[in-house]
Amino acid sequence: MRALLRNRIVRAAATYWWAPSLVLVGTGLGVGGLLGPTLAAGAVLFGAGATAGAAGAIGLQAKRARQAALRRHAEAGYLCVCPRCLAAPGLHFVCEACGAPVEEDVVHTEARWVNSCGGCGKALRAAAGARLEVAAHCPGCRYAAPRAELHERRVAVLAAATPEAFQVLLAQAGPEARPAPPASAQWETPAGRVVLLSLAELAPETLAAPHAGHHLTALWIAGSDALRLGQILDTFTVTAGRGPELLRGVPACVQSPELPPELRRLLEHRFREVETGVTPGCFLTAGTK
Ligand SMILES: [Zn+2]
Ligand SMILES: [Zn+2]
Repeated sequence: MRALLRNRIVRAAATYWWAPSLVLVGTGLGVGGLLGPTLAAGAVLFGAGATAGAAGAIGLQAKRARQAALRRHAEAGYLCVCPRCLAAPGLHFVCEACGAPVEEDVVHTEARWVNSCGGCGKALRAAAGARLEVAAHCPGCRYAAPRAELHERRVAVLAAATPEAFQVLLAQAGPEARPAPPASAQWETPAGRVVLLSLAELAPETLAAPHAGHHLTALWIAGSDALRLGQILDTFTVTAGRGPELLRGVPACVQSPELPPELRRLLEHRFREVETGVTPGCFLTAGTK
């Protein structure tokens, strides 16, 4: 944790770790013979070891705090999806004063050990009990927002398999669905944010990096062309660089009440479950609860 070098105690220890050893070194050299240099070397090593040990203990606490935060986010169903570029970059933070990146460990430990920005040096927490002055951040498009908006928010990622199915869902979603960026739309519900994707139209370069499409909540399928659907799914999983496991936890919701055997086989092989007779309205409602 590089940020630890901004901790006053660690910085002082890293700079002056040899100072307490001087006395022992002097004593050691005074003793002379083989015992003297041995005592001196031991004292220096002890000083350096104590400094590294303190830094290690703080680093371990930061790691535990980070794991606890990730667990809390997973339990709450939070998903960080950038509303501007739809990247899903995980947790990134910036200083509210200067926009410089703030290390994740510093935020998870509530700036207990390191309370300064690496960019402008300003205190991240002005006083004990005050708010931590960091914002959530998308490193891809540099969008910054309050943590409650970007990190601590439930996001349902719904997708349509074909461009035609996407247009049907978009019309069903109504005027509050904002069609942006390309091949997607977004809107708010009381349960959180909804991101709607057109699977076949997503640009390959967007899928190559962590993206909302890697976290699908459910997929809606209209039409019964198994060959075309198979090609769309193959292209999607290969472009996302994840293989078939990307869809194994996702339910497939099919508009038609009856499925041709070939299409049923294809869907059952690839998805967690297959539900038939799902109307656009039902799909959007069920997916956003
Ligand atoms: Zn700053
Ligand atoms: Zn972004």
